[in-house]
Amino acid sequence: MTSNTDTFEGGCTCGEVRYRMTSKPMFVHCCHCRSCQRETGASFALNAMIEADRVELLRSEVEVVNTPTDSGKGQKISRCPTCRIAVWSNYAGSGDAVRFVRVGTLDEPGRIPPDIHIFTRSKQPWIVLPTGMPAVPVYYKPKETWPGESQARFAALRSKAT
Ligand SMILES: [Zn+2]
Ligand SMILES: [Zn+2]
Repeated sequence: MTSNTDTFEGGCTCGEVRYRMTSKPMFVHCCHCRSCQRETGASFALNAMIEADRVELLRSEVEVVNTPTDSGKGQKISRCPTCRIAVWSNYAGSGDAVRFVRVGTLDEPGRIPPDIHIFTRSKQPWIVLPTGMPAVPVYYKPKETWPGESQARFAALRSKAT
């Protein structure tokens, strides 16, 4: 059983931006949409969804860049002002209260594996997902998919926002 005292540190490539996640994320998306492929220059993005107030900026500031998405609603990508590496995003759907931390920027990315694969309709054909791994062609319903503890954390955010 993982406790929520787990912390995870990460940063950009030049070392100017450093941050700490003060708990494990609520849920982790491996996203195979075309935007994520383009932004990473690779095959997918790995995004850890976590409350914004559980991400501490340890050094420097981030530069927020508005970036178009397939949904048309856009995302705000937070980047190092110097090397421009993206460390997290906020999507229109869940707003500023939820950060999508880019798992590849963590010091130990292997500690945060995906909970689900999304947008597999545009998955590159050579990627073979493990049997039994949750995967959906586009998106899914969090109420049917997230663990209860994560749903409670998300609900707490929503009540704070109103
Ligand atoms: Zn940097
Ligand atoms: Zn995506």
